[in-house]
Amino acid sequence: MNCCDLTPAHVRAIAPYLPGKPISELARELGLAEADIVKLASNENPLGPSPLALAAAQDALYDMALYPDGAGFALKAKLAGKCGVDASQIVLGNGSNDVLDMAARAFLAAGTSAVYAQHAFAVYPIATQTAGAQGIAVPARNYGHDLAAMGAAIRDDTRVLWIANPNNPTGTFLPWLEVEAFLDTVPPHVLVVLDEAYGEFLPHAERCDTTAWLARFPNLLIVRTFSKAYGLAGLRVGYGLGNAAVIDLLNRVRHPFNVNAPALAAAEAALDDVDFLARSYALNAAGMAQLAAGLSALGVDGVPSRGNFLLAKVGDAARINTELLKRGVIVRPVANYGLPEFLRVSVGLAGQNARFLDVLKACL
Ligand SMILES: *Cc1c(COP(=O)(O)O)cnc(C)c1O
Repeated sequence: MNCCDLTPAHVRAIAPYLPGKPISELARELGLAEADIVKLASNENPLGPSPLALAAAQDALYDMALYPDGAGFALKAKLAGKCGVDASQIVLGNGSNDVLDMAARAFLAAGTSAVYAQHAFAVYPIATQTAGAQGIAVPARNYGHDLAAMGAAIRDDTRVLWIANPNNPTGTFLPWLEVEAFLDTVPPHVLVVLDEAYGEFLPHAERCDTTAWLARFPNLLIVRTFSKAYGLAGLRVGYGLGNAAVIDLLNRVRHPFNVNAPALAAAEAALDDVDFLARSYALNAAGMAQLAAGLSALGVDGVPSRGNFLLAKVGDAARINTELLKRGVIVRPVANYGLPEFLRVSVGLAGQNARFLDVLKACL
């Protein structure tokens, strides 16, 4: 018996997260130039970062010998103003995945359970299992969350219920009124984690100030990220908004100095770059329309999406994915999400979207 044989069964049962293939890796494999590869696989911002964020991160590098502000005072102050909450209601994360993991470690343990939807973000089962809790996957409705069924799946030992709205990888979206009505029915012993990673891509008419719900729902944790619309995926910074008692528990399991100094500085600057955010939104809306029209012209069904990505029903997705890779196009297979006929395509620049559509046409 060695140490690996003795790992807890719940750790060995975890299906590791499958990231998008890095451009450098495919370039090595194919002997292609990195510039000839298009990656539409990780919902990254095709505009790159905001120039203000880039400059702030560069400045912060001069202080890299020093620990960052472990409390993230300046970023929290700015977020508090923007979100209309007190700084004590904010926790910062090394990406929002860090916040999701903190929620699992603070609220879950062996003997408890967590509810999530089939086809929901892969980190929910991973974080749940890592904490030793049992995951309860609830069958999807039209690829999205079936809130009534998720509510019915709650048990006495359930401590967390995960919701992504919009959801990744399906792009499905529940009108906020439905989510709000659902929250009214969730018993207080269950923390609802509302993951809004793609909130900035919602059309304005479909947005909602969910932070206003915190006063009514002490068991609500809202999670947001700088990785998508703000273009800071590589720096790793996100945050959670909740009532002070929930945030206090998350801070107990949070790693000290979990958000690095360039990330803190870039996030702060990114919040000021309203113009960049508007450009991200507009580019995504145009690219989504381009992809949807292009897929439809090829006779490929897509799942309507409110994110910065789209599920395309290509049939034998494993084969098509291999063909796309050979031609230098990286998208995301989602068989591990129970969607073996689909590929998930992130919205890129107009030229990247066109290249994907062209290459897909050749592969079908
Ligand atoms: C991309 C994504 C996140 C963000 O992850 P980060 O750790 O902030 O980069 C969170 N939730 C969902 C559903 C996502 O798709």
